[in-house]
Amino acid sequence: MKTLTHWIDGKPVEGTSGRFGPVYNPATGDQEKQVAFATVEEVDAAVASARAAFASWGGSSLATRTAILFKYRELLDAHRDEIAELITAEHGKVHSDALGEVARGMEIVELACGISVQLKGELSTQVSNRVDVASIRQPLGVVAGITPFNFPAMVPMWMFPLAIACGNTFVLKPSEKDPSASLRLAELATEAGLPEGVLNIVQGDKTAVDRLLEHPDIEAVSFVGSTPIAKYIQLKAVEHGKRVQALGGAKNHMLVLPDADLELAADQAINAAYGSAGERCMAVSVVVAVGDIGDELVGKIAERAKKLRIGPGDDPASEMGPLITREHRDKVASYVASAAEQGAEVVVDGTGLTVEGHENGFFLGVSLLDRVPLTADAYRDEIFGPVLAVVRAQTYEEAIQLINSSRWGNGTAIFTRDGGAARRFQMEVKAGMVGVNVPIPVPVGYHSFGGWKDSLFGDLHIYGNDGIAFYTQGKVVTTRWPDPSDGGINLGFPSNS
Ligand code: NAD
Repeated sequence: MKTLTHWIDGKPVEGTSGRFGPVYNPATGDQEKQVAFATVEEVDAAVASARAAFASWGGSSLATRTAILFKYRELLDAHRDEIAELITAEHGKVHSDALGEVARGMEIVELACGISVQLKGELSTQVSNRVDVASIRQPLGVVAGITPFNFPAMVPMWMFPLAIACGNTFVLKPSEKDPSASLRLAELATEAGLPEGVLNIVQGDKTAVDRLLEHPDIEAVSFVGSTPIAKYIQLKAVEHGKRVQALGGAKNHMLVLPDADLELAADQAINAAYGSAGERCMAVSVVVAVGDIGDELVGKIAERAKKLRIGPGDDPASEMGPLITREHRDKVASYVASAAEQGAEVVVDGTGLTVEGHENGFFLGVSLLDRVPLTADAYRDEIFGPVLAVVRAQTYEEAIQLINSSRWGNGTAIFTRDGGAARRFQMEVKAGMVGVNVPIPVPVGYHSFGGWKDSLFGDLHIYGNDGIAFYTQGKVVTTRWPDPSDGGINLGFPSNS
Protein backbone atom coordinates (compact mmCIF):
# COMPACT_ATOMS: atom_id res chain seq x y z
CA MET A 1 0.00 0.00 0.00
CA LYS A 2 1.31 3.45 -0.89
CA THR A 3 2.38 5.52 2.13
CA LEU A 4 2.09 9.29 1.83
CA THR A 5 4.93 11.23 3.40
CA HIS A 6 5.72 14.61 4.86
CA TRP A 7 7.45 17.29 2.75
CA ILE A 8 10.30 18.99 4.55
CA ASP A 9 13.26 20.92 3.15
CA GLY A 10 11.99 20.60 -0.39
CA LYS A 11 11.75 16.81 -0.41
CA PRO A 12 9.58 13.93 0.78
CA VAL A 13 10.34 12.68 4.28
CA GLU A 14 9.16 9.29 5.52
CA GLY A 15 7.32 9.27 8.82
CA THR A 16 8.84 7.58 11.88
CA SER A 17 5.89 7.49 14.29
CA GLY A 18 4.55 4.14 13.16
CA ARG A 19 1.13 5.81 13.25
CA PHE A 20 -0.82 6.10 10.00
CA GLY A 21 -4.22 7.25 8.85
CA PRO A 22 -6.20 5.41 6.14
CA VAL A 23 -6.76 7.16 2.81
CA TYR A 24 -9.74 5.73 0.96
CA ASN A 25 -11.01 5.89 -2.56
CA PRO A 26 -14.56 6.92 -1.60
CA ALA A 27 -15.98 5.66 -4.90
CA THR A 28 -14.89 2.06 -4.23
CA GLY A 29 -14.68 2.15 -0.45
CA ASP A 30 -11.18 0.64 -0.66
CA GLN A 31 -8.28 1.89 1.38
CA GLU A 32 -5.68 2.46 -1.32
CA LYS A 33 -3.12 4.47 0.66
CA GLN A 34 -2.07 5.40 4.16
CA VAL A 35 -0.63 8.65 5.42
CA ALA A 36 2.09 8.97 8.03
CA PHE A 37 1.11 10.86 11.20
CA ALA A 38 3.86 13.21 12.35
CA THR A 39 5.58 13.07 15.69
CA VAL A 40 6.34 16.23 17.66
CA GLU A 41 9.97 15.89 16.49
CA GLU A 42 8.90 15.77 12.85
CA VAL A 43 6.80 18.92 13.28
CA ASP A 44 9.80 20.53 14.96
CA ALA A 45 11.97 19.54 11.98
CA ALA A 46 9.51 21.16 9.55
CA VAL A 47 9.36 24.34 11.64
CA ALA A 48 13.16 24.40 11.90
CA SER A 49 13.41 24.09 8.12
CA ALA A 50 10.94 26.94 7.67
CA ARG A 51 12.73 29.04 10.27
CA ALA A 52 16.08 28.55 8.54
CA ALA A 53 14.56 29.36 5.13
CA PHE A 54 12.98 32.55 6.48
CA ALA A 55 16.46 34.01 7.07
CA SER A 56 16.91 34.47 3.33
CA TRP A 57 13.35 34.23 1.95
CA GLY A 58 12.09 36.99 4.28
CA GLY A 59 14.63 39.37 2.75
CA SER A 60 14.38 38.14 -0.84
CA SER A 61 13.44 40.67 -3.48
CA LEU A 62 9.87 41.01 -4.70
CA ALA A 63 11.22 40.26 -8.18
CA THR A 64 12.62 36.92 -7.00
CA ARG A 65 9.39 35.95 -5.26
CA THR A 66 7.09 36.91 -8.08
CA ALA A 67 9.26 35.22 -10.73
CA ILE A 68 8.79 31.95 -8.82
CA LEU A 69 5.07 32.56 -8.37
CA PHE A 70 4.56 33.23 -12.07
CA LYS A 71 6.40 30.00 -12.88
CA TYR A 72 4.31 28.21 -10.25
CA ARG A 73 1.12 29.47 -11.85
CA GLU A 74 2.29 28.09 -15.21
CA LEU A 75 3.02 24.69 -13.67
CA LEU A 76 -0.34 24.58 -11.91
CA ASP A 77 -2.03 25.43 -15.16
CA ALA A 78 -0.18 22.62 -16.93
CA HIS A 79 -1.06 20.12 -14.17
CA ARG A 80 -4.69 21.06 -13.52
CA ASP A 81 -6.03 17.73 -14.67
CA GLU A 82 -3.54 15.72 -12.69
CA ILE A 83 -4.26 17.64 -9.46
CA ALA A 84 -7.99 17.26 -10.08
CA GLU A 85 -7.53 13.50 -10.52
CA LEU A 86 -5.75 13.29 -7.17
CA ILE A 87 -8.62 15.18 -5.56
CA THR A 88 -11.24 12.90 -7.09
CA ALA A 89 -9.34 9.76 -6.10
CA GLU A 90 -9.25 10.68 -2.40
CA HIS A 91 -12.14 13.11 -1.88
CA GLY A 92 -14.58 11.64 -4.40
CA LYS A 93 -15.89 14.86 -6.03
CA VAL A 94 -16.46 14.74 -9.78
CA HIS A 95 -13.60 15.74 -12.05
CA SER A 96 -15.20 18.97 -13.33
CA ASP A 97 -15.81 20.10 -9.75
CA ALA A 98 -12.23 19.23 -8.80
CA LEU A 99 -11.01 21.29 -11.77
CA GLY A 100 -13.12 24.19 -10.49
CA GLU A 101 -11.47 23.87 -7.10
CA VAL A 102 -8.01 24.02 -8.68
CA ALA A 103 -9.01 27.10 -10.69
CA ARG A 104 -10.31 28.92 -7.59
CA GLY A 105 -7.09 28.06 -5.74
CA MET A 106 -5.06 29.38 -8.64
CA GLU A 107 -6.83 32.73 -8.29
CA ILE A 108 -4.87 33.25 -5.09
CA VAL A 109 -1.60 32.35 -6.81
CA GLU A 110 -2.52 34.97 -9.43
CA LEU A 111 -3.14 37.51 -6.67
CA ALA A 112 0.22 36.54 -5.17
CA CYS A 113 1.91 37.16 -8.55
CA GLY A 114 0.87 40.80 -8.16
CA ILE A 115 2.14 41.09 -4.59
CA SER A 116 4.57 43.89 -5.55
CA VAL A 117 1.61 46.21 -6.07
CA GLN A 118 -0.14 45.04 -2.90
CA LEU A 119 2.93 45.55 -0.71
CA LYS A 120 3.58 49.10 -1.88
CA GLY A 121 3.82 51.10 1.29
CA GLU A 122 2.57 54.60 2.04
CA LEU A 123 4.75 57.70 2.24
CA SER A 124 3.88 61.11 3.67
CA THR A 125 6.48 63.71 3.00
CA GLN A 126 7.17 66.82 5.08
CA VAL A 127 4.84 65.89 7.96
CA SER A 128 7.01 68.28 9.94
CA ASN A 129 10.10 70.21 8.94
CA ARG A 130 12.32 67.81 6.97
CA VAL A 131 10.37 64.85 8.39
CA ASP A 132 8.92 62.07 6.23
CA VAL A 133 6.83 59.11 7.41
CA ALA A 134 6.68 55.75 5.62
CA SER A 135 4.34 52.87 6.45
CA ILE A 136 5.63 49.50 5.33
CA ARG A 137 4.50 45.93 5.86
CA GLN A 138 6.90 43.12 6.66
CA PRO A 139 6.54 39.35 6.90
CA LEU A 140 5.85 37.65 10.21
CA GLY A 141 8.23 34.68 9.97
CA VAL A 142 7.00 31.08 10.01
CA VAL A 143 3.26 30.66 9.64
CA ALA A 144 1.17 27.49 9.80
CA GLY A 145 -1.91 26.38 7.90
CA ILE A 146 -4.32 23.63 8.97
CA THR A 147 -6.85 22.61 6.34
CA PRO A 148 -10.04 20.53 5.95
CA PHE A 149 -10.81 17.55 3.72
CA ASN A 150 -13.38 19.16 1.49
CA PHE A 151 -11.06 21.34 -0.60
CA PRO A 152 -7.71 19.54 -0.45
CA ALA A 153 -6.09 21.84 -3.03
CA MET A 154 -8.05 25.10 -2.91
CA VAL A 155 -7.99 25.78 0.81
CA PRO A 156 -4.20 25.24 1.15
CA MET A 157 -3.90 27.61 -1.83
CA TRP A 158 -6.03 30.18 0.02
CA MET A 159 -3.12 30.34 2.43
CA PHE A 160 0.43 29.51 1.40
CA PRO A 161 0.81 31.38 -1.93
CA LEU A 162 -0.07 34.68 -0.28
CA ALA A 163 1.88 33.92 2.88
CA ILE A 164 5.06 33.13 0.96
CA ALA A 165 4.54 36.03 -1.46
CA CYS A 166 4.56 38.29 1.60
CA GLY A 167 7.94 36.81 2.57
CA ASN A 168 6.89 34.27 5.18
CA THR A 169 7.76 30.60 5.22
CA PHE A 170 5.02 28.06 5.73
CA VAL A 171 4.18 24.75 7.39
CA LEU A 172 0.97 23.14 6.15
CA LYS A 173 -0.95 20.41 7.98
CA PRO A 174 -3.44 19.18 5.38
CA SER A 175 -6.44 16.97 6.08
CA GLU A 176 -5.35 13.42 6.79
CA LYS A 177 -8.26 12.17 4.67
CA ASP A 178 -6.99 13.41 1.29
CA PRO A 179 -3.37 14.57 1.56
CA SER A 180 -2.03 13.82 -1.94
CA ALA A 181 -3.12 17.05 -3.64
CA SER A 182 -1.16 19.24 -1.23
CA LEU A 183 1.94 17.08 -1.64
CA ARG A 184 1.71 17.60 -5.40
CA LEU A 185 1.27 21.35 -4.85
CA ALA A 186 4.49 21.36 -2.82
CA GLU A 187 6.39 19.34 -5.44
CA LEU A 188 5.34 21.79 -8.15
CA ALA A 189 6.36 24.74 -5.98
CA THR A 190 9.83 23.23 -5.65
CA GLU A 191 9.90 22.67 -9.42
CA ALA A 192 9.00 26.34 -9.86
CA GLY A 193 12.13 27.25 -7.93
CA LEU A 194 10.79 27.80 -4.43
CA PRO A 195 13.81 27.39 -2.14
CA GLU A 196 13.81 24.43 0.21
CA GLY A 197 12.15 25.05 3.54
CA VAL A 198 9.86 27.85 2.32
CA LEU A 199 6.89 25.47 2.05
CA ASN A 200 6.77 22.37 4.26
CA ILE A 201 4.06 19.82 4.86
CA VAL A 202 3.51 17.76 7.97
CA GLN A 203 0.85 15.09 7.79
CA GLY A 204 -1.07 14.03 10.80
CA ASP A 205 -3.66 14.51 13.45
CA LYS A 206 -4.10 16.37 16.72
CA THR A 207 -0.50 15.64 17.76
CA ALA A 208 0.82 17.62 14.78
CA VAL A 209 -1.78 20.38 15.12
CA ASP A 210 -1.15 20.85 18.83
CA ARG A 211 2.59 21.06 18.32
CA LEU A 212 2.12 23.73 15.65
CA LEU A 213 -0.13 25.69 18.01
CA GLU A 214 2.38 25.48 20.84
CA HIS A 215 5.60 25.91 18.86
CA PRO A 216 7.40 29.11 19.86
CA ASP A 217 8.67 29.68 16.31
CA ILE A 218 5.21 29.76 14.70
CA GLU A 219 4.01 33.35 14.48
CA ALA A 220 0.54 32.90 13.01
CA VAL A 221 -2.00 30.18 12.26
CA SER A 222 -4.58 30.03 9.48
CA PHE A 223 -7.20 27.35 10.05
CA VAL A 224 -10.18 26.19 8.00
CA GLY A 225 -12.43 23.40 9.27
CA SER A 226 -15.38 22.68 11.54
CA THR A 227 -16.63 25.12 14.17
CA PRO A 228 -15.66 23.14 17.31
CA ILE A 229 -12.08 22.71 16.08
CA ALA A 230 -11.91 26.32 14.84
CA LYS A 231 -12.84 27.54 18.34
CA TYR A 232 -10.24 25.27 19.87
CA ILE A 233 -7.57 26.46 17.42
CA GLN A 234 -8.29 30.11 18.15
CA LEU A 235 -8.15 29.71 21.92
CA LYS A 236 -4.99 27.62 21.89
CA ALA A 237 -3.20 29.80 19.35
CA VAL A 238 -4.01 32.94 21.33
CA GLU A 239 -2.90 31.24 24.55
CA HIS A 240 0.47 30.70 22.85
CA GLY A 241 0.69 34.28 21.65
CA LYS A 242 -0.04 33.72 17.99
CA ARG A 243 -2.01 35.65 15.44
CA VAL A 244 -4.91 33.47 14.31
CA GLN A 245 -7.71 33.28 11.77
CA ALA A 246 -9.91 30.20 12.20
CA LEU A 247 -12.72 29.65 9.72
CA GLY A 248 -15.44 27.29 10.87
CA GLY A 249 -18.58 25.54 9.71
CA ALA A 250 -21.77 26.86 8.21
CA LYS A 251 -25.47 26.48 7.59
CA ASN A 252 -26.13 28.65 4.56
CA HIS A 253 -29.64 29.89 3.88
CA MET A 254 -31.02 30.80 0.45
CA LEU A 255 -34.00 33.11 0.70
CA VAL A 256 -36.44 32.97 -2.21
CA LEU A 257 -38.92 35.84 -2.50
CA PRO A 258 -42.29 35.33 -4.23
CA ASP A 259 -41.23 37.45 -7.23
CA ALA A 260 -38.14 35.31 -7.99
CA ASP A 261 -37.76 33.30 -11.18
CA LEU A 262 -38.59 29.92 -9.63
CA GLU A 263 -37.05 27.88 -12.45
CA LEU A 264 -33.75 29.66 -11.94
CA ALA A 265 -34.04 29.44 -8.14
CA ALA A 266 -34.72 25.69 -8.32
CA ASP A 267 -31.71 25.13 -10.61
CA GLN A 268 -29.46 27.11 -8.30
CA ALA A 269 -30.77 25.43 -5.16
CA ILE A 270 -29.89 22.05 -6.71
CA ASN A 271 -26.41 23.17 -7.77
CA ALA A 272 -25.60 24.78 -4.45
CA ALA A 273 -27.08 22.07 -2.22
CA TYR A 274 -25.86 18.93 -3.96
CA GLY A 275 -22.66 20.02 -5.75
CA SER A 276 -19.67 18.20 -4.22
CA ALA A 277 -22.27 16.05 -2.37
CA GLY A 278 -23.03 19.03 -0.15
CA GLU A 279 -19.52 18.91 1.32
CA ARG A 280 -18.88 22.61 0.83
CA CYS A 281 -18.79 25.22 3.56
CA MET A 282 -20.68 27.48 1.13
CA ALA A 283 -23.25 24.85 0.17
CA VAL A 284 -26.85 25.96 0.48
CA SER A 285 -28.36 23.71 3.14
CA VAL A 286 -31.58 25.61 3.83
CA VAL A 287 -34.00 27.20 1.36
CA VAL A 288 -36.35 29.72 2.93
CA ALA A 289 -39.45 29.97 0.76
CA VAL A 290 -41.31 33.23 1.39
CA GLY A 291 -45.06 33.69 0.91
CA ASP A 292 -47.05 31.17 -1.06
CA ILE A 293 -44.34 29.85 -3.42
CA GLY A 294 -43.30 26.95 -1.15
CA ASP A 295 -45.21 24.11 -2.80
CA GLU A 296 -44.28 25.16 -6.32
CA LEU A 297 -40.60 25.67 -5.47
CA VAL A 298 -40.34 22.37 -3.59
CA GLY A 299 -41.97 20.61 -6.58
CA LYS A 300 -39.44 22.10 -8.99
CA ILE A 301 -36.46 21.22 -6.76
CA ALA A 302 -37.76 17.66 -6.23
CA GLU A 303 -38.25 17.13 -9.96
CA ARG A 304 -34.63 18.11 -10.60
CA ALA A 305 -33.22 16.24 -7.59
CA LYS A 306 -34.65 12.94 -8.78
CA LYS A 307 -32.82 13.26 -12.11
CA LEU A 308 -29.31 13.81 -10.70
CA ARG A 309 -26.74 11.28 -11.85
CA ILE A 310 -24.72 9.98 -8.93
CA GLY A 311 -21.63 7.89 -9.52
CA PRO A 312 -17.84 7.77 -9.30
CA GLY A 313 -16.14 11.14 -9.72
CA ASP A 314 -13.94 9.89 -12.55
CA ASP A 315 -16.96 8.97 -14.69
CA PRO A 316 -17.79 12.01 -16.86
CA ALA A 317 -21.48 11.05 -16.68
CA SER A 318 -21.57 11.56 -12.89
CA GLU A 319 -22.86 14.87 -11.58
CA MET A 320 -22.29 14.03 -7.92
CA GLY A 321 -19.79 11.69 -6.32
CA PRO A 322 -19.61 9.83 -3.00
CA LEU A 323 -19.05 11.23 0.49
CA ILE A 324 -15.67 11.27 2.16
CA THR A 325 -16.01 8.25 4.49
CA ARG A 326 -18.49 5.52 5.34
CA GLU A 327 -18.98 6.98 8.84
CA HIS A 328 -19.75 10.41 7.45
CA ARG A 329 -22.14 8.96 4.87
CA ASP A 330 -24.01 7.08 7.61
CA LYS A 331 -24.15 10.17 9.84
CA VAL A 332 -25.57 12.27 7.00
CA ALA A 333 -28.17 9.58 6.27
CA SER A 334 -29.20 9.56 9.93
CA TYR A 335 -30.32 13.19 9.62
CA VAL A 336 -32.92 12.21 7.01
CA ALA A 337 -34.36 9.60 9.38
CA SER A 338 -34.31 11.92 12.40
CA ALA A 339 -35.89 14.75 10.39
CA ALA A 340 -38.86 12.51 9.56
CA GLU A 341 -39.21 11.57 13.23
CA GLN A 342 -38.96 15.21 14.25
CA GLY A 343 -41.75 16.42 11.99
CA ALA A 344 -40.23 17.19 8.57
CA GLU A 345 -41.71 15.93 5.30
CA VAL A 346 -39.21 13.80 3.38
CA VAL A 347 -39.97 14.75 -0.21
CA VAL A 348 -36.96 12.96 -1.75
CA ASP A 349 -35.17 10.24 0.22
CA GLY A 350 -31.75 9.38 -1.19
CA THR A 351 -30.62 7.18 1.65
CA GLY A 352 -31.34 3.87 -0.09
CA LEU A 353 -29.11 4.50 -3.10
CA THR A 354 -26.60 1.96 -4.34
CA VAL A 355 -24.40 2.59 -7.36
CA GLU A 356 -24.04 -0.43 -9.60
CA GLY A 357 -20.48 -1.72 -9.69
CA HIS A 358 -19.61 0.48 -6.68
CA GLU A 359 -21.68 -1.15 -3.96
CA ASN A 360 -19.00 -0.52 -1.31
CA GLY A 361 -18.48 3.14 -2.26
CA PHE A 362 -19.55 5.83 0.19
CA PHE A 363 -22.48 6.93 -1.94
CA LEU A 364 -25.64 8.58 -0.73
CA GLY A 365 -28.46 9.85 -2.90
CA VAL A 366 -29.75 13.38 -2.54
CA SER A 367 -32.51 14.14 -0.03
CA LEU A 368 -35.01 16.97 0.10
CA LEU A 369 -36.80 17.78 3.34
CA ASP A 370 -39.77 20.16 3.47
CA ARG A 371 -41.40 22.06 6.34
CA VAL A 372 -38.43 21.25 8.55
CA PRO A 373 -39.13 22.33 12.14
CA LEU A 374 -36.51 24.76 13.44
CA THR A 375 -36.05 22.43 16.38
CA ALA A 376 -35.13 19.42 14.20
CA ASP A 377 -31.51 18.25 14.23
CA ALA A 378 -31.50 18.50 10.43
CA TYR A 379 -32.09 22.25 10.80
CA ARG A 380 -29.94 22.91 13.85
CA ASP A 381 -26.75 21.02 12.84
CA GLU A 382 -24.32 21.40 9.99
CA ILE A 383 -25.00 18.15 8.08
CA PHE A 384 -22.30 18.57 5.40
CA GLY A 385 -23.93 16.22 2.94
CA PRO A 386 -26.53 16.12 0.14
CA VAL A 387 -29.53 16.99 2.29
CA LEU A 388 -31.48 20.17 1.54
CA ALA A 389 -33.98 21.50 4.06
CA VAL A 390 -36.83 23.80 3.06
CA VAL A 391 -38.47 26.04 5.63
CA ARG A 392 -41.41 28.33 5.02
CA ALA A 393 -41.76 31.97 6.05
CA GLN A 394 -44.80 34.18 5.52
CA THR A 395 -42.86 37.42 5.05
CA TYR A 396 -39.40 38.78 4.26
CA GLU A 397 -39.16 40.00 7.88
CA GLU A 398 -39.83 36.52 9.23
CA ALA A 399 -37.29 35.05 6.82
CA ILE A 400 -34.47 37.42 7.68
CA GLN A 401 -35.13 37.05 11.38
CA LEU A 402 -34.77 33.29 10.94
CA ILE A 403 -31.50 33.60 9.02
CA ASN A 404 -30.10 36.07 11.50
CA SER A 405 -30.94 33.75 14.40
CA SER A 406 -28.61 31.07 13.04
CA ARG A 407 -25.45 30.50 15.04
CA TRP A 408 -23.50 30.54 11.78
CA GLY A 409 -23.04 33.38 9.30
CA ASN A 410 -20.85 32.16 6.47
CA GLY A 411 -22.70 32.65 3.17
CA THR A 412 -26.28 33.46 2.28
CA ALA A 413 -28.22 34.38 -0.83
CA ILE A 414 -31.42 36.06 -1.89
CA PHE A 415 -33.32 35.24 -5.07
CA THR A 416 -35.55 38.06 -6.25
CA ARG A 417 -36.19 40.46 -9.13
CA ASP A 418 -36.73 43.32 -6.68
CA GLY A 419 -33.60 45.49 -6.39
CA GLY A 420 -34.88 47.25 -3.29
CA ALA A 421 -35.47 43.97 -1.46
CA ALA A 422 -32.05 42.68 -2.51
CA ARG A 423 -30.39 45.84 -1.23
CA ARG A 424 -32.28 45.66 2.04
CA PHE A 425 -31.19 42.03 2.43
CA GLN A 426 -27.54 42.78 1.80
CA MET A 427 -27.62 45.50 4.45
CA GLU A 428 -29.59 43.56 7.07
CA VAL A 429 -28.35 40.00 6.85
CA LYS A 430 -25.80 38.82 9.41
CA ALA A 431 -23.37 36.84 7.26
CA GLY A 432 -19.94 37.48 5.81
CA MET A 433 -20.70 36.64 2.17
CA VAL A 434 -23.94 37.53 0.43
CA GLY A 435 -25.21 36.51 -2.99
CA VAL A 436 -27.90 38.33 -4.92
CA ASN A 437 -29.22 35.69 -7.32
CA VAL A 438 -25.83 34.02 -6.78
CA PRO A 439 -26.19 30.90 -4.64
CA ILE A 440 -22.54 30.29 -3.72
CA PRO A 441 -21.03 33.76 -3.30
CA VAL A 442 -17.39 32.71 -2.82
CA PRO A 443 -15.47 35.96 -3.33
CA VAL A 444 -12.89 36.21 -6.11
CA GLY A 445 -9.26 36.05 -5.02
CA TYR A 446 -8.79 39.82 -4.77
CA HIS A 447 -11.66 40.18 -2.31
CA SER A 448 -11.57 38.32 1.00
CA PHE A 449 -13.42 35.21 2.17
CA GLY A 450 -14.88 34.88 5.63
CA GLY A 451 -18.00 34.44 7.70
CA TRP A 452 -19.51 35.96 10.80
CA LYS A 453 -20.53 34.47 14.13
CA ASP A 454 -19.54 30.79 14.57
CA SER A 455 -18.19 30.68 11.01
CA LEU A 456 -15.00 32.59 11.78
CA PHE A 457 -12.91 33.17 14.87
CA GLY A 458 -10.37 35.95 14.56
CA ASP A 459 -10.47 39.41 13.06
CA LEU A 460 -9.36 39.06 9.47
CA HIS A 461 -10.91 37.10 6.64
CA ILE A 462 -8.78 34.89 4.43
CA TYR A 463 -7.03 35.89 1.15
CA GLY A 464 -7.54 39.23 -0.65
CA ASN A 465 -6.49 42.35 1.26
CA ASP A 466 -7.33 40.75 4.61
CA GLY A 467 -5.01 37.86 3.77
CA ILE A 468 -2.16 40.23 3.03
CA ALA A 469 -2.82 42.11 6.27
CA PHE A 470 -2.89 38.80 8.15
CA TYR A 471 0.45 37.61 6.76
CA THR A 472 2.28 40.90 7.33
CA GLN A 473 2.90 43.28 10.19
CA GLY A 474 2.95 47.04 9.89
CA LYS A 475 5.92 49.22 10.60
CA VAL A 476 6.03 53.01 10.45
CA VAL A 477 9.36 54.74 9.81
CA THR A 478 9.75 58.42 10.69
CA THR A 479 12.81 60.00 9.09
CA ARG A 480 14.57 63.32 9.45
CA TRP A 481 17.76 64.35 7.70
CA PRO A 482 18.68 67.12 10.15
CA ASP A 483 19.53 70.68 9.44
CA PRO A 484 21.84 72.40 11.96
CA SER A 485 18.81 74.40 13.15
CA ASP A 486 17.21 71.17 14.41
CA GLY A 487 19.67 70.90 17.31
CA GLY A 488 19.08 71.86 20.93
CA ILE A 489 17.71 70.20 24.07
CA ASN A 490 13.93 69.80 24.37
CA LEU A 491 12.48 67.17 26.71
CA GLY A 492 8.91 67.86 25.59
CA PHE A 493 6.94 65.22 23.67
CA PRO A 494 7.80 65.59 19.97
CA SER A 495 5.16 67.63 18.16
CA ASN A 496 4.91 68.42 14.50
CA SER A 497 5.18 71.97 13.28
P1 NAD B 1 -12.25 19.27 10.79
O1 NAD B 1 -12.46 20.42 11.70
O2 NAD B 1 -12.60 17.90 11.29
O3 NAD B 1 -10.69 19.19 10.38
C1 NAD B 1 -9.99 20.31 9.91
C2 NAD B 1 -8.51 20.14 10.27
O4 NAD B 1 -8.38 20.09 11.69
C3 NAD B 1 -7.90 18.87 9.71
O5 NAD B 1 -6.60 19.15 9.25
C4 NAD B 1 -7.88 17.93 10.92
O6 NAD B 1 -6.81 17.01 10.90
C5 NAD B 1 -7.71 18.90 12.08
N1 NAD B 1 -8.33 18.41 13.31
C6 NAD B 1 -9.45 17.64 13.41
N2 NAD B 1 -9.73 17.38 14.70
C7 NAD B 1 -8.78 17.99 15.44
C8 NAD B 1 -8.53 18.10 16.85
N3 NAD B 1 -9.33 17.51 17.74
N4 NAD B 1 -7.47 18.81 17.25
C9 NAD B 1 -6.66 19.41 16.36
N5 NAD B 1 -6.84 19.34 15.02
C10 NAD B 1 -7.89 18.65 14.56
O7 NAD B 1 -12.99 19.60 9.44
P2 NAD B 1 -13.21 18.66 8.17
O8 NAD B 1 -14.19 17.60 8.51
O9 NAD B 1 -11.91 18.27 7.58
O10 NAD B 1 -13.86 19.72 7.14
C11 NAD B 1 -15.23 20.00 7.11
C12 NAD B 1 -15.56 21.21 7.93
O11 NAD B 1 -14.81 22.32 7.51
C13 NAD B 1 -17.01 21.64 7.81
O12 NAD B 1 -17.50 22.03 9.07
C14 NAD B 1 -16.95 22.83 6.87
O13 NAD B 1 -18.01 23.76 6.99
C15 NAD B 1 -15.67 23.44 7.27
N6 NAD B 1 -15.13 24.28 6.23
C16 NAD B 1 -15.18 25.62 6.41
C17 NAD B 1 -14.71 26.47 5.43
C18 NAD B 1 -14.77 27.95 5.60
O14 NAD B 1 -14.17 28.62 4.79
N7 NAD B 1 -15.43 28.49 6.60
C19 NAD B 1 -14.17 25.93 4.25
C20 NAD B 1 -14.09 24.56 4.11
C21 NAD B 1 -14.58 23.74 5.11
